[in-house]
Amino acid sequence: MKGIDPGDHFSMAGDKESGLQVFALTCEEVAEEMSSRYGKGLYHAAALYRAIFKKGGCSFAGTAEFSRSPSLVDRLVRDLRLPACRVVATQEDEGVLKFTSALADDRVIESVIIPAQGRTTLCVSSQVGCRMGCRFCTTGGMGYVRDLNVEEIVWQVYAARFEMNRPVDNVVFMGMGEPLDNLENLAGAVRVMGDQRGLDIPPSHITVSTAGHADGIRKLGEMRIPRIRLAVSLNASNDELRTSIMPINKRYPLRRLKQELLAFPRAKDGVIFIEYVLLKGINDLREDAEELAGYLNGLPVRVNVIPYNPSGVNSYAAPSREDVQRFCGWLVEERLFVRPRRSRGQDIMAACGQLGAAARAEERPLR
Ligand code: SF4
Repeated sequence: MKGIDPGDHFSMAGDKESGLQVFALTCEEVAEEMSSRYGKGLYHAAALYRAIFKKGGCSFAGTAEFSRSPSLVDRLVRDLRLPACRVVATQEDEGVLKFTSALADDRVIESVIIPAQGRTTLCVSSQVGCRMGCRFCTTGGMGYVRDLNVEEIVWQVYAARFEMNRPVDNVVFMGMGEPLDNLENLAGAVRVMGDQRGLDIPPSHITVSTAGHADGIRKLGEMRIPRIRLAVSLNASNDELRTSIMPINKRYPLRRLKQELLAFPRAKDGVIFIEYVLLKGINDLREDAEELAGYLNGLPVRVNVIPYNPSGVNSYAAPSREDVQRFCGWLVEERLFVRPRRSRGQDIMAACGQLGAAARAEERPLR
């Protein structure tokens, strides 16, 4: 039985324009393609989907659906277009595994696998670089290079499962890039990931983390993706401070952001996750905690306080464990639901706003 042996990494089989791009399509869409190309339908599409996304690789050996159709296998081998991505580096620290993928144009992106409490979360990138320019962020310092397409986003989940051999229960768009600045490809990837015949990660297990892209929040809400989760990297609760560390606040000030958060269609029991990177001496005072509570009043939120990891590319300082505990205590006094987050993976720069070190070394900023 023939098949494509991806070897160490996927290769481009079909033509870039006309190939059958399984990583960018739901199973139904693959069936439509197979119907128009080969006169085959959902039965064979589901078998192909399972072979790739449930078993990994693209070998049809032992697949009953294809054993009676050798000519179909020949045509698939000719037409299948798989992402030309490959894992080029890995780093592990305290169970957190970061892997670097090289894309077809040799740009590189980073993804992080984080096991916790019996579940495994994959943090994916949505862009090469980022145009938001958050001052505390390594990726922000490299500028925007380009958006990832659907295949390149889905590839990261595939690679975590089948190249890194880790289960993936949840996906968070919290890696390199502002996901709502690449909304169309984000939505396409969410559809592919959610297909039960494939990766089977439903929107309720997917969190989109934004720096506060208010238009993107509105558009994401209008897409009515059921139960998708939203996180906002807030980090300050007055416009002056927030604009100084997150330039996006100039375009979407806090008032506008809150309007969109209030209007976002959450699931019945859904909360919005608020990420607060604690920067020593910048946003860690009692007044900051009180102001944060005031801003969040009326929003169903859960606050994650994340100690900043010094990256060497900016001058912010990390808070001590006591600083984090004290700040969380103030938030609890303000009746907020708070979770202090340990910055696991610090040694490999795998924490929030810390991806992009490898990419940064290889990219010239375009801004
Ligand atoms: S924190 Fe996120 S949105 Fe801000 S610059 Fe970094 S990657 Fe972009």
